[in-house]
Amino acid sequence: MQCPVCQTPMIAIELDEVETDYCPECQGIWLDAGELEILLEDADQTRRLLDSFRPAETTETARLCPICLKSMQKVYVEPSNKAVLIDRCLKSHGLWFDRGELMQVLQQGAFDEQGKVAKLLREMYPPEE
Ligand SMILES: [Zn+2]
Ligand SMILES: [Zn+2]
Repeated sequence: MQCPVCQTPMIAIELDEVETDYCPECQGIWLDAGELEILLEDADQTRRLLDSFRPAETTETARLCPICLKSMQKVYVEPSNKAVLIDRCLKSHGLWFDRGELMQVLQQGAFDEQGKVAKLLREMYPPEE
């Protein structure tokens, strides 16, 4: 599977026993449908997150879903006070998070209250010097 941003072949990484696809070049993460729910360990939280998506009007070029290769939709993730813009496949194949976006979404929506996923993400994305 290729990165939808830079076309680098993605590598599988384990995030709390969930296998996700990670781009070693631009450091984005692809979450398949279902992986998000396993990661959050809570169907209600997952639904709350998915329900909070709001289609975004943007001039950014659409990225292609790495599974079906159709243009993905840009969506804002609420219920954050500062919306994060992510990409989702309209056929529900999954979600694309640019570097750092998954962390922002989890923090702002008060998901991942134990900070478990955040800890893993911090290890993946060490703070830049
Ligand atoms: Zn990439
Ligand atoms: Zn797709």
